[in-house]
Amino acid sequence: MEFVFAPPPVVSVSVAGSGARFPVRRIFCIGRNYADHAKEMGATVDRGNPVFFCKPADAVVSGSGEICYPQATTELHHEVEMVVALHAGGMGIGVDEALGCVFGYGVGLDLTRRDLQAAAKAKGMPWDTAKAFDHSAPISAIHRVDDVGHPRQVELTLEVNEQTRQRSDIAQMVWSVPEIIASLSGLFELKPGDLIFTGTPAGVGPLVRGDRFHACLHGIAQLDGCIA
Ligand code: MN
Repeated sequence: MEFVFAPPPVVSVSVAGSGARFPVRRIFCIGRNYADHAKEMGATVDRGNPVFFCKPADAVVSGSGEICYPQATTELHHEVEMVVALHAGGMGIGVDEALGCVFGYGVGLDLTRRDLQAAAKAKGMPWDTAKAFDHSAPISAIHRVDDVGHPRQVELTLEVNEQTRQRSDIAQMVWSVPEIIASLSGLFELKPGDLIFTGTPAGVGPLVRGDRFHACLHGIAQLDGCIA
């Protein structure tokens, strides 16, 4: 096939214990999936209506390293989240079959321009500029289900400059991984290569230049980096 200019490279994430990489198709995110975080944002959890939004694949920053402080904000916030990587998809996936779509798990940051999000919320406008900006999705290596199983009760933490900012357990998620996959597949035809950020617990806060962060899904995945 001939293109009018060179097509963009395939965005990918490393796979633990492998030289092969996980090709990223899309990034789906769920909001308000921990009651304590919904509360700190002045929101409530609506069990009937999960909040979904997306980031483009090229928001991915694969693995540990440096992230440049983004433009157009003075309030960059961290949100530590478990990330689910899919190797299969479909529409109308049942809760019982959803875990069959999962290739593996990682940990990532849903970086957020909180000032832009607050302005968007105040006007009832979309969150894209707050959530879907360049380099807004740093993510660890993906750990295969074959190696780590399907985590249900695992501590999720974020330290910034060696101080704990966020500490919870994925057992606290309002919507479980199978429920998220089933719900998303009723809105989108999920595909191999899709990533799902599963929401953040309480303790979100600012990152500034020079901060070093350590995100950990205990016993499974970790991610280190700094803000430049
Ligand atoms: Mn989030």
